[in-house]
Amino acid sequence: MSLFIVSTPIGNLEDITLRAIKILASVDTILCEDTRRTGLLLQHLHIKKPLIPYYEEIEDRKIPEIIALLQHKSIALVSDAGTPLISDPGFKLVRECIQRGIKVESIPGPSAAIAALTSSGLPPDKFIFLGFVNKKNFPSVKPGVTAIFYAAPHKLVQNLKDLEAAFGDIEIVVCRELTKVHEEIWKGAISQALSHFSHPKGEFVLLFQGANPKASMSSAGTPPLP
Ligand code: SAM
Repeated sequence: MSLFIVSTPIGNLEDITLRAIKILASVDTILCEDTRRTGLLLQHLHIKKPLIPYYEEIEDRKIPEIIALLQHKSIALVSDAGTPLISDPGFKLVRECIQRGIKVESIPGPSAAIAALTSSGLPPDKFIFLGFVNKKNFPSVKPGVTAIFYAAPHKLVQNLKDLEAAFGDIEIVVCRELTKVHEEIWKGAISQALSHFSHPKGEFVLLFQGANPKASMSSAGTPPLP
């Protein structure tokens, strides 16, 4: 049977795709991070399915059980929001399925990184996705490349300070609460962002353009990524 990787909305429930609804309604079981949260989405879609918790902390020990189920059941993997595997669990399961010849099908849809990139006004032709960052893994980024990263609200201020330490007081784009009622696409210098978002609330994606490699080499101390 197949494992379906199903993207779900990042805020606005109308962003679910017709194919996602069809697959969620047809599979035997759904793997999800938070059964309550996915339960609410399924309730909204009038779909009733058995849910199996699947989150980072239990991923390794769940895989054998899921592989066994996949011998005779079709399974969908969803995350709390957006596209599974993208800063969310699922990669290890997909790799295991592929190694065992189990079919994996992606049902594409919303992802905060792509929604942010396409509404940022920054060049989208070459971009790099950094996931969640901390000071240790803030890489430099080549000029001409747009960098995208996720920031938890309680880490936003620290992320902004680390970004400023690595690249100086550069212009950035902060996308907050995408597709939701309080959506905000904010543009300005990091110093301005620090005062505008001094008490961050909601979900954030940050974007910036790659700096001169020389400048970033000397300040960040790491070689630029492609
Ligand atoms: N897999 C998801 C995706 O495809 O976008 C991302 C999951 S990651 C655990 C959660 C992070 O995504 C949040 O901390 C935030 O940085 C970003 N995010 C998710 N929904 C968002 C939204 N509506 N607006 C802005 N950022 C969002």
